[in-house]
Amino acid sequence: MRSVAITNIGRLVTNDQSLGAGLLGELRDAALVIEGGRVAWVGSSKDAPSADHGIDAAGRSVLPGFVDSHAHLMFAGDRADEFAARMAGESYSAGGIRSTVAATRAATDAELESRLASLAAEMRSSGITTFETKSGYGLTVEDEARALEIAARHTSETTFLGAHVVPREYAENGAAGVDAYVTLVKNEMLAAATPHAKWIDVFCDRGAFDADQAREILLAGKAAGLAPRIHANQLQHGQGVQLAVELDCASADHCTHLTEADVEALAGSKTVATLLPGAEFSTRAEYPDARRLWAAGVKVAIATDCNPGSSYTTSMPFCIAVAVRDMHFTPEQAIWSATAGGAAALRRTDIGHLGLGARADLIQLAAESPIHLAYRPGVNLIRSTHLAEDFTN
Ligand SMILES: [Zn+2]
Repeated sequence: MRSVAITNIGRLVTNDQSLGAGLLGELRDAALVIEGGRVAWVGSSKDAPSADHGIDAAGRSVLPGFVDSHAHLMFAGDRADEFAARMAGESYSAGGIRSTVAATRAATDAELESRLASLAAEMRSSGITTFETKSGYGLTVEDEARALEIAARHTSETTFLGAHVVPREYAENGAAGVDAYVTLVKNEMLAAATPHAKWIDVFCDRGAFDADQAREILLAGKAAGLAPRIHANQLQHGQGVQLAVELDCASADHCTHLTEADVEALAGSKTVATLLPGAEFSTRAEYPDARRLWAAGVKVAIATDCNPGSSYTTSMPFCIAVAVRDMHFTPEQAIWSATAGGAAALRRTDIGHLGLGARADLIQLAAESPIHLAYRPGVNLIRSTHLAEDFTN
């Protein structure tokens, strides 16, 4: 098995507290040996065993690749004009999603795949080594299934989000139309999506789906073998976070408006609170306070929420910087949340850390300290991004 030693690492983030100091399990003047794409040895650079191939990190920082547990990459068109209008004072509503639905339905498979591939390449250059992506801009049986089929060629973390918003042709018929759409999502659409999806998600919020509808859809998904996650409490207080805990969702995403009861419910569960700094930034909304969540012992992730309406960024370093500045994460907490937190939100133990046996998905920073990710906002500090497979051939 081919082995690679990365030596002379100024600061190595392992996220394994048995290996190093603090929340990030940090080691200084460290080395990492990779065998068969997995971490086989971690320690002091001077003690590093020999390997087939050597990489000198020259004092730079190395950290686990970012895990983006929440993105919407299957769409066509963009909404730059809507963003400009919002920055001129208009408010954000879930209904804007429908304009992307029209563009996505009109796009060819090749157009959708080429957009996905270019966004995935941007993510990779921002240090993201695993990304999740959702459907949710097709909202017909055929369009949701094709989005997931295309997405599954690029990531194993695919999520069926037929319940993103009620499409116009159903919404026009009022409550009866909404009921008919929920029935479609739980039956034919779910059946067509399931072969290409790992997760099921519902946008449970004002202007989208209520908690009873979300529960019905998520339970149908669970019965079909998909694991649940949820968009909850972005636009207002609601029952989404409680529902996430009730159904053992891997993650409750957004969590912008939380009561004390919501925080307690999350703290007593395995459900991760995934915060999406790009969404509050791009909708000029009030940020949630991550200190509350950390103080209560909630597991917190940070993700990009990359989508054309409310967070059109693929940059995890940008999200880290905003999380630190405006959500009151410490730099260490933000880095943990963008790596180990994202992995927990996908219920993965092989990524998000560089402990023994982990996939060698990692980033070399053009900086000696990982704190620079927040300290130098807007500067491209990702010197290189590696996937485990890069070390096996
Ligand atoms: Zn989202």
